[in-house]
Amino acid sequence: MSYDSDNIFAKILRDEIPSSRVYEDDETLAFMDIMPRANGHVLVIPKTPCRNILDASEQQLASCMATAQKLSHAVMTAFGAGGVTVQQFNEAIGGQEVFHLHFHILPRYPGVALLP
Ligand code: 5GP
Repeated sequence: MSYDSDNIFAKILRDEIPSSRVYEDDETLAFMDIMPRANGHVLVIPKTPCRNILDASEQQLASCMATAQKLSHAVMTAFGAGGVTVQQFNEAIGGQEVFHLHFHILPRYPGVALLP
């Protein structure tokens, strides 16, 4: 499967549509999910084109994971979460809706289930 640069996260990267950016470095961007499944739900993406984990380079995976770790600490501190779930989907049958690699950082709270 190929990369389509008209996907919504590519547009966020190009600042063609607004987003609530919370972290950025040379290789990755993190922003708030527009339909949060938990309070403080953040998405981490690589800045370079990548459809999903199936075509990701080692460098893209490493930089996204490093940012996911930073953001996990950050959301736990900022939102008072007790932990995080890191989630990632590949292709439509795997639950992927936006076809630019992304990792969900989902803060977790006692007695609170993730929204579907
Ligand atoms: P997935 O592809 O992993 O199933 O989920 C895509 C995620 O992107 C969903 O959690 C959805 O709420 C989020 N999303 C879709 N469109 C936008 C958007 O325009 N802005 C932001 N910030 N998040 C979006």
